Amino acid sequence: MKFALYGGKKVEAETTLKGALCPVCDAEVIAKCGDKNIHHWAHKSNKECPHWWENETKWHRDWKNQFPEDWQEVIHISETGEKHIADIKTPNGLVVEFQHSYIKPEEILARNNFYKNIIWIVDGKRRPTDEKKFEEALEWRGWDSSRLLKDWTIFPKPVFFDFGKPLLWGVSDGFPIKFEKKDFIISVKNGSIKRKIDNKINTEMRRRMRGRRLWGSVMKKGY
Ligand SMILES: [Zn+2]
Repeated sequence: MKFALYGGKKVEAETTLKGALCPVCDAEVIAKCGDKNIHHWAHKSNKECPHWWENETKWHRDWKNQFPEDWQEVIHISETGEKHIADIKTPNGLVVEFQHSYIKPEEILARNNFYKNIIWIVDGKRRPTDEKKFEEALEWRGWDSSRLLKDWTIFPKPVFFDFGKPLLWGVSDGFPIKFEKKDFIISVKNGSIKRKIDNKINTEMRRRMRGRRLWGSVMKKGY
């Protein structure tokens, strides 16, 4: 994680800071500031921390840093007292989670149920063939031929795949949608992202209905 608690404040990893605490389980964490990995906080002992931890990659950190620090790694507490850290939580309650490594479907479901208002960004560059398979699936092979689509579209929450390009491809409610990455970030920041996703779904739905109507009129004419 990027932030630990030190004297009640969110602090970034620094080897000189001793006694910083994990904001979820209150255990002591130590600063990992090597050359190889992103500087981060890690638990001192391997004691179970209930947070859904993921090793933080540069990709993960770069995404988080697109947003204000106050929105990064925000504790979210459920009615039953369960505590987790959202990668990004906006002031209007939208959670954005960045997922680089493999995640079990049960865990996706658990996070969806926990955060409810959530958008996923998935690293589309982790597996070398994902981007090609994704494009083929959208164009002609059907969604089952892409692991990304197969793994993620069983869930109704919006998910976007980051192939490291200016365009983010995503799926929401079973409809493929796309955003310029820049536009996506701006829309999360100004609170318009959910409305924009809905607009894109509606456009796609109308496009499909027009297609069906056209097809229907062709059939009636008996061509
Ligand atoms: Zn912890």
